[in-house]
Amino acid sequence: MATIASLNPRERLLMGPGPSTVPQRILQAIGAPTLGHLDPQYIEYLDETCQMLREVYQTENLLTFPVSGTGMAGMEAVVVNLVEPGDEVIVCINGVFGGRMKDNMERAGATVHALEVPWGETFSQEEIAAAVQKHPRAKLLGIVHAETSTGAHQDLTGLAEILHDAKMLLAVDAVTSLGGHELKVDAWGIDAVYSGTQKCLACPPGLSPVSFSPRAIEKMDARKSKVQSWYLDVSLLKNYYMGGAGRAYHHTAPINMVYALREALTIVLEEGLENRVARHREMHLLLRGGLERLGLEYIPQKSLYTLNCVSVPNGIDEAAIRRQLLTDYDIEIGGGLGIFAGKAWRIGLMGHSATRRNINTLLSAIERCLEIK
Ligand SMILES: *Cc1c(COP(=O)(O)O)cnc(C)c1O
Repeated sequence: MATIASLNPRERLLMGPGPSTVPQRILQAIGAPTLGHLDPQYIEYLDETCQMLREVYQTENLLTFPVSGTGMAGMEAVVVNLVEPGDEVIVCINGVFGGRMKDNMERAGATVHALEVPWGETFSQEEIAAAVQKHPRAKLLGIVHAETSTGAHQDLTGLAEILHDAKMLLAVDAVTSLGGHELKVDAWGIDAVYSGTQKCLACPPGLSPVSFSPRAIEKMDARKSKVQSWYLDVSLLKNYYMGGAGRAYHHTAPINMVYALREALTIVLEEGLENRVARHREMHLLLRGGLERLGLEYIPQKSLYTLNCVSVPNGIDEAAIRRQLLTDYDIEIGGGLGIFAGKAWRIGLMGHSATRRNINTLLSAIERCLEIK
């Protein structure tokens, strides 16, 4: 057998749409001894992790835990548990991830009413109220807080009032906002939310924090049919995650990833939620100023802090520039997704990556690459 060289990944600066750069403290946490998934010491770590998730999500929801799997597993968990075959739902689509939510809902047997605006734009309260009025039988509305494919920032305030008056639930994709943008699950009346570890929490990918409100639990408890996914069935998962003394085996939780998430949340709370959001905002403004000085234009009107999506100037081979950034400067940024493929760059300012030093490094590298082309 040929010998295989030892693992030696380069230390890249990860400034794409995720994963973001992982700080050493979190990598060290992953390397701690693996415990059994019912070991009392591990259970304590898990409970602390769920408690910190509630703080970061700004919720009292008891049913708050990390789903095993990446952000898409969280999306799927929310959808398959809250949607029953035959349910009518509304899904807001302004990019790739709203489209995926629709696909997931249809697979779960829902009749989906898609509310669409052009990519890069966001939804107004009036548009949402009109859709709710038009579809009085709908039971849930799904919307993306931070559309990573376009960089658009959706305002969520005021939506829950409209939906709850119509006996509908609000389900939110917060994969690229948790830990980078203001996100108030209880104050904003969000009934189900999912996120991912590898974006603004600065962890490796592998867990998807979710949270369900008492309203959402009521809907799940009233189901007539079983959740079609055994692995993601919250009625089974809660016996492990929320099980107290009667905790029972469902699947082997990814122990060392929970260590990583626990460390990541500790770092978030040490910094403080408000300070963290302020840092992401400040870094976004710094990056934005620099990109605009280079002549690059933002695509969305309401840009996220955490994901900066700019048009590629005419005549520039966007993939060649990204390749050069990676090979010559060890910096990763993202290309366009979906209809923006070949037309946009997506620059992440997430968690540990969102620093002045990184932004200055990136801006001067982009400037060099654009001069040479
Ligand atoms: C990244 C992302 C996802 C999917 O997460 P994965 O970890 O890639 O499975 C879902 N929604 C949004 C908005 C994202 O940015």
